[in-house]
Amino acid sequence: MRYSQLLLPTLKESPAEAEVVSHVLMLRAGFMRKLTAGIYTYLPFGLAAIRKVENIVREEMNRAGAQELLMPMVQPADLWKETGRYEKYGPELLRFHDRHDRESCLGPTHEEVITDIARKELHSYRDLPVNLYQIQTKFRDEIRPRFGLMRGREFIMKDAYSFDVSDEAAEVSYMKMYEAYKRIFSRCGLDFRAVQADSGAIGGSFSHEFMVLAKTGEDTIVICKDCEYAANMEKAVVKLTPETSTEPLAEMEKVETPGKRKVEAVCEFLGIEPSLLVKTLVFKADGQPVAVLVRGDREVEEVKLKNLLGVADVEMAGDEEVFKATGVPTGYLGPVGIRVRVVADQEVAAMRNFYVGGNEKNYHLKNVNFGRDFQAEAVADLRQITPGDPCPACGGQLKLTEGIEVGHVFKLGTGYSQSMNATFQDSDGQEKHFVMGCYGIGVSRVVAAAIEQNHDDNGIIFPIPLAPYTVIVLNLGVKDEAISAAAEKVYRDLQAAGLEVILDDRDERPGLKFKDADLLGIPYRLTVGNSFAKSGKVEVRSRRDGATEEMTPEEAVSVLREKLLAELMKK
Ligand SMILES: [Zn+2]
Repeated sequence: MRYSQLLLPTLKESPAEAEVVSHVLMLRAGFMRKLTAGIYTYLPFGLAAIRKVENIVREEMNRAGAQELLMPMVQPADLWKETGRYEKYGPELLRFHDRHDRESCLGPTHEEVITDIARKELHSYRDLPVNLYQIQTKFRDEIRPRFGLMRGREFIMKDAYSFDVSDEAAEVSYMKMYEAYKRIFSRCGLDFRAVQADSGAIGGSFSHEFMVLAKTGEDTIVICKDCEYAANMEKAVVKLTPETSTEPLAEMEKVETPGKRKVEAVCEFLGIEPSLLVKTLVFKADGQPVAVLVRGDREVEEVKLKNLLGVADVEMAGDEEVFKATGVPTGYLGPVGIRVRVVADQEVAAMRNFYVGGNEKNYHLKNVNFGRDFQAEAVADLRQITPGDPCPACGGQLKLTEGIEVGHVFKLGTGYSQSMNATFQDSDGQEKHFVMGCYGIGVSRVVAAAIEQNHDDNGIIFPIPLAPYTVIVLNLGVKDEAISAAAEKVYRDLQAAGLEVILDDRDERPGLKFKDADLLGIPYRLTVGNSFAKSGKVEVRSRRDGATEEMTPEEAVSVLREKLLAELMKK
């Protein structure tokens, strides 16, 4: 493609409407233009990147045995009423009446439509398993669309739905999709993790979110530096270090800590590390006070506490509430002789001779031990993960990072097939409900996430498999016959070698051409300039590492062909 003929309107300045890097760069690099809030026109360059993702998704879905279909965007409300979602779904579901006054909606997702297909077209266990997918435009009427393609109202999604005869069979379908997703995001050239989205045991969970790691991600996730373990903050399992202290139990003593109420102040006053102190925090669990014990340098993970107690809601109690429940002023509460229920983090039960509040103003207790000096009604993993904690899967080091969700695989079970009475005849002659799974990928979001992960101050740095073009040839002598002829020739030779190439043949100054090439993030830049006349050489530069090399145009074609085709053939 010749740049001079391409609709590629790059911008020098960051548009005011854009808050995140991917949004800024997609506008600046002429990927898209806003039509109205959360709704964009994809211009040729942006659409080309989206198509790259689609192609990889399609190839891997087909390879996994899924079949592509295309469902309508407009859906009748009646289907949604069968599952009760017409009422339950929030205002994100755009509801409207057609000219015959029939209630309708714009599909934010397609469980109802696909289940309707299944109940009409799949009749026997012999028809199963089936996995059907589509790549389609979805609409969700977000109240505050923002971040460009990250949270738009209209977006392109791949959604797939599997139908199986049993739970076990559905789990096989799930694992196929899990593996397909790993291949998809690897092939996109992205650094990603599959994060357990429910608290299932390691390896036994049937809901995973695929997250692209990027500093600007909206979710904090815990990942292992050494293996594939990844979990949401609130789900990350803390592995207790195996050695329980064997220090002999010392005699409990009261120590004076006048006016010292905060962990830091108490520790500084006593000259001890916060890891030697146990804090006693009072939470309201569905309104009832519960004391939670964690090491002084740890924080309570409220989701874990909520799950342990089996309550709907937990909340830190205020100072007055604590005093009312325990009779102890803030800062001096401890587990020895406490008047409310106590639960302890597993780490506390493994500690020896630690410090706690003395349940009396201006006093703490020293050499306190779990079991001897106080009890707890439960000991469990209750604390937040901290960087450096051991990985529950391999023992390696955990670290915290930010992620952008780009995919989700989920075992649905029989919820939809039951509410819509979608059944098949099993081998035993019984009518049974399909066991379903659903699997989404935010196709347009993948492009945004790829940019969030791969950019620098000058612009995008496309992973090779997602780049709309892999080489940009800069003709720096549009008015010079020899340079122009060489640029034209190398452009044609690169195309003949099977590469997607742009020839920047615009009559612009070199500085602008270099800037645009960087902004667009095309993996390789080949410059034909003044030095060509002297040495017969062109310059090849890698966008990712900035490495440059001078070589003849023939060498450049063969080098680029080798570098790029090898990368693009990876499957
Ligand atoms: Zn690990």
